[in-house]
Amino acid sequence: MMVKKITLLGHKDHGKSTLIGNMLILTNRVNPAKLKEAERTSEQLGKRFEPGFILDSFHEEREGGLTIDTTRTEKIPHKDIAFEFIDVPGHEELIKNMMSGASQADIAVLIVSAKADEGIRDQTKRHLFIAKMLGIRKLVVAVNKMDLVAYKEEKFDAIKKHMAKFIENMGFTRGNVYFVPISAYMKDNLVKKSSNMKWYSGRPLIDLLYMNAKEEYTKKANAELRVLLQGFIDHTGTVMAGKIVSGKMRLGDKVRIWPSGFGSSISRIFVKGANVKAAKLGTNVAVALRDKFNSDVRGSVMADDENSPKLRKVVKALIFVTRPTLANMKIKFNNIEIGCNSLKVLKHIDTTTGERKEGNRLKALDAIEADIELERKLPFESYERTEELGRFLLYSRGEFAGIGIVE
Ligand code: GDP
Repeated sequence: MMVKKITLLGHKDHGKSTLIGNMLILTNRVNPAKLKEAERTSEQLGKRFEPGFILDSFHEEREGGLTIDTTRTEKIPHKDIAFEFIDVPGHEELIKNMMSGASQADIAVLIVSAKADEGIRDQTKRHLFIAKMLGIRKLVVAVNKMDLVAYKEEKFDAIKKHMAKFIENMGFTRGNVYFVPISAYMKDNLVKKSSNMKWYSGRPLIDLLYMNAKEEYTKKANAELRVLLQGFIDHTGTVMAGKIVSGKMRLGDKVRIWPSGFGSSISRIFVKGANVKAAKLGTNVAVALRDKFNSDVRGSVMADDENSPKLRKVVKALIFVTRPTLANMKIKFNNIEIGCNSLKVLKHIDTTTGERKEGNRLKALDAIEADIELERKLPFESYERTEELGRFLLYSRGEFAGIGIVE
């Protein structure tokens, strides 16, 4: 089953836990006896049942009563996809989570409450900005708590109108943003279309996610081959391990390894130890080439021979800065570290509005557009084309200082 990561964004109390809790219930992931027991306990305490509490009991079971990580993930299956909802508390966790092998985390759900005093806040806007920077292309805005505004279309429309402009400023294309009115608590429009909002002509949340996940997968699967190489896995230096992040590979395919530019063709492919003729997007593979490649491949990229990434020493990038000074800079790209010769700030971007201004001031939690000159050339691509080759981490004096994406 394909696992699709969904980044969940939204301010505290807007209903993230309730949404996940009820999704788990609706997709039969919760033991009915346990559910009954939880409902009964709430009743005895004279409190209303909170579906979000299910998550806490799940976690306690898994982690023996200790909640170790602040980031929560929950798997929700639907048809042939298991959606993994990732709920991240702060921007550092969000960055860490999205950078750490969260490949194909290209869909986000933003929960905004329709309740009078619960509009969108700066922190949420910043998260949205980071998510966009890190490769989120498709955004589903779930306007929650519709039951508290009598399921009124006007209420939904007003929020939609207010947010559409701002989301566009953040760099999302209109066609990649979907709005759905929901009540996470009452389960409206989560898995099935709600009869409480007949005016809504779109699909329920899970269908929107499914449709977008399929679309993104097809697009990437049909693109040219890109494999992030981790190194050789045998003593003779012929079989290399890597992950296919774009396209597919077949025996005999002509490929090139970057940054070296070495070209050959694929002679053997192994997936989970078995000899295969082809491997598809998202697969961890071991590959041997017809000709011997004599240097280390760690951090290199294997690409389609005719359509390869470009080697660049100077890159224009959008950088989210977490520290106000950027001395002794290094970048980490595809798991290797490279020194930077210089960084020139071109524009300053307000991460709560997406607005670009002239100026070269550096401020933590803001973003800049900059030209970075590296010590040597790297096989970059625009993040629109291949997220994994279009983003990097920035370090200053050995400490994490920000993230960048190549435009
Ligand atoms: P989180 O902090 O984003 O995880 O928010 P929670 O899921 O904990 O929700 C905060 C409060 O809002 C809880 O008391 C929920 O029961 C309530 N809530 C969440 N979704 C809805 C909804 O659709 N309708 C109503 N009436 N209350 C909701």
